[in-house]
Amino acid sequence: ITEYAGKDVAVYGLGRTGLSAAKALKAGGARVHAWDDNEESRAKAEAAGIALSDINKRDWQTFAALVLSPGIPYKFPQPHRLVRMAEMTGVPVIGDMELFARAVQALPERARPKIVAITGTNGKSTTTALIGHILKQAGRDARVGGNIGTGVLDLAPLHSNAIYVLEMSSYQLDLVKSLRCDVAVFMNLSPDHLDRHGGMDGYQAAKMRIFQNQTEKDVAVIGFDDVYSQSIAIGLSAKGPQKVVQISSTYTLGKGISAVDGRLYDNQSGKAEFVGKLDECPALIGRHNYQNAAAAYAACRALGLDPGTIMAGLRSFPGLAHRMEAVGEIGGIRFINDSKATNAQAAEQALRAFKNIYWIAGGVPKAEGIAPLAPLFPNITKAYLIGQAEDAFAATLHGKVPSQVCGALDRAVEAAYRDAKAAGEPGAVILLSPACASFDQFKDYEQRGDAFRSLVQGMMPASLKVT
Ligand code: ADP
Repeated sequence: ITEYAGKDVAVYGLGRTGLSAAKALKAGGARVHAWDDNEESRAKAEAAGIALSDINKRDWQTFAALVLSPGIPYKFPQPHRLVRMAEMTGVPVIGDMELFARAVQALPERARPKIVAITGTNGKSTTTALIGHILKQAGRDARVGGNIGTGVLDLAPLHSNAIYVLEMSSYQLDLVKSLRCDVAVFMNLSPDHLDRHGGMDGYQAAKMRIFQNQTEKDVAVIGFDDVYSQSIAIGLSAKGPQKVVQISSTYTLGKGISAVDGRLYDNQSGKAEFVGKLDECPALIGRHNYQNAAAAYAACRALGLDPGTIMAGLRSFPGLAHRMEAVGEIGGIRFINDSKATNAQAAEQALRAFKNIYWIAGGVPKAEGIAPLAPLFPNITKAYLIGQAEDAFAATLHGKVPSQVCGALDRAVEAAYRDAKAAGEPGAVILLSPACASFDQFKDYEQRGDAFRSLVQGMMPASLKVT
């Protein structure tokens, strides 16, 4: 990133992406003023060779830009104090994605790598990983990152043959304006993170930024399974300029890609062509994964892959940890780690995919709680509740599903296993799909899922003696 060579740039928030931005700016000759209020993050930055500079105490007139970490409130619930400072002093506020987008735009057209970006409320990481996997299997130079895994500026340097497959959160999209995606994938939209976007309109507007700057050469892949996405798909199809490909796991579309009941059809030409069976793809369990598969198919088709190659990639996809991840089976009882399900919509997918569920849920609840999951309560044999949400969830379940307040994850796993074993019915599933954030008891959802996995693994030898 040479755009800021010889200039002063403030970098605030030194997590994964902030750190990569600081490094890239420094390598490009900028004078980087890096800061984080958290001492641990500052220490990590220093260890990575980034000199610290308390930007609270600097003359802001000298800064050419403020690179803001997507974790820091930009507009809502209210702008962070340093964002206001930047606004008052006329310093542009950008994110790491914007730095990347500008570097790509600065290249001559023929030397530009391709960009595929993926956003939506749920399914972003799975779809991003899926697209990356299919492209790599097909021998393409796919570089996967962004909001998942590696920060975009830490991916291998720009190369004209490369395809950047980037997961984007709404926070990251809020901080870009030069991005132009060859393929923009918009999965779905439901209320989430509303506090950070000032309501549903702001959230939708942030997500819509994925289509900004697209031209008639570019493709927008849009889910057609919720009302918000439907209206976006219809609006964009009418107005263009990009080509819109609709995808659905619910409806057989007159034109688009459908993945209903596990059968993938390409109906882009208006003539439905059967592509393959998704229920033969081991890591793509459940209807939500059919949506992810349809999106990945549409994106890879837009990049010129043929249907057979894409199908082979869908079949060999290994899946991601913490998303419907099978972590063990003891005496016919399956243990599924879906720790990534941090809201009701995500947990809904898991509750739909199984029957006879011993459900472990709770943590820090989202505003909607678990009331929207009521239609799936019949799939739950019993619920084991943990964390801050346990009493509220117990109240919602009262009279409909037996539940037990367990406090902590280890007690929930123990109790669920004891009950499932005693019931002795076939097809029991012990499912961690919390419908909650994790930070009351864990660092993040990964730590929560890892804890679940090791609890299950710890139970394995004893149970093997029993069976
Ligand atoms: P994200 O990156 O958007 O958070 P993930 O792919 O990590 O999405 O999946 C998170 C959770 O959301 C999963 O545990 C799964 O239960 C659920 N999920 C995955 N794909 C979808 C989808 N297309 N629609 C709804 N829920 C989904």
